[in-house]
Amino acid sequence: MLTANEHFKARFGCKMYKASISFAHTCPNRDGTKGTGGCIFCSAGGSGEFASCVEKSITEQIGEAISRVEKKAGPGAGYIAYFQSFTNTYCSPEKLAAAMDEAISHPRVKAVSVATRPDCLPESIVEVISERTSKIPVYVELGLQTSNDETAKLINRCYETREYDEAVRRLKEAGVNVITHVIFGLPEEPEEQMLESVRHCVSAGTDGIKFTCLYVLKDTVLERMWRAGEFEVLGQEEYFDIVEKAIGLLPPDTVIHRLTGDGPKKLLLAPMWTADKRGVINYINRRFA
Ligand code: SF4
Repeated sequence: MLTANEHFKARFGCKMYKASISFAHTCPNRDGTKGTGGCIFCSAGGSGEFASCVEKSITEQIGEAISRVEKKAGPGAGYIAYFQSFTNTYCSPEKLAAAMDEAISHPRVKAVSVATRPDCLPESIVEVISERTSKIPVYVELGLQTSNDETAKLINRCYETREYDEAVRRLKEAGVNVITHVIFGLPEEPEEQMLESVRHCVSAGTDGIKFTCLYVLKDTVLERMWRAGEFEVLGQEEYFDIVEKAIGLLPPDTVIHRLTGDGPKKLLLAPMWTADKRGVINYINRRFA
């Protein structure tokens, strides 16, 4: 399996750290354009609780993120400006271009990563991203979660899987490295469907993948469903059994950027094993090293 660390070392010659940036304020799934209330698992922070304050400039946010990890990272580390929360291409091309250029101009930034939705990539936006690829490596992270359109409706994703396929094709033509987010443990999804989502990403041509175990956060629709007993969260062993099978489906050059995620502790309700970051890392090292 090709890890993100190995990929970054080969591409940049050093260990890379993410400098998370708050840039977008919302997404079309929240403001009524596509839907309201957001995806059923998404917190009010738009999956960006680890990012910095949106009121600060991008340069300031990158500087603060770097100073938080600099001691551990050391002077030889490189940084990825990570546009993390909400939908970062849900804006005018001019606004995105200015934000990306500000990030790129930071002397410690060696790459940019933009998290977004496949249905928020009009030609003008892809052009902005593509133009930046001649200056710096650009990654675009797409939240697919599942390839099953029925589950997509259940989680209120508000776009169809074919839009993801189309987005991957266009981004790759534009020279962008595509990373896809997949969630295991979504309500009503058997294991075979989770693995099918991974096969789908591979056949669509994703360059990298991020696996996450579904976790329940406070004040989400998922919290209500979980409390009503409509689904059960995955146990640690059960989750990593699926991850192991998923890894077996990946071509050797597909980069695994994450084996699991951890939700913001103050909002996390279940599964609680995901909150034990050190325990999870030890488990992963024992099982996958
Ligand atoms: S997961 Fe992304 S698309 Fe879904 S509601 Fe949250 S920010 Fe919007």
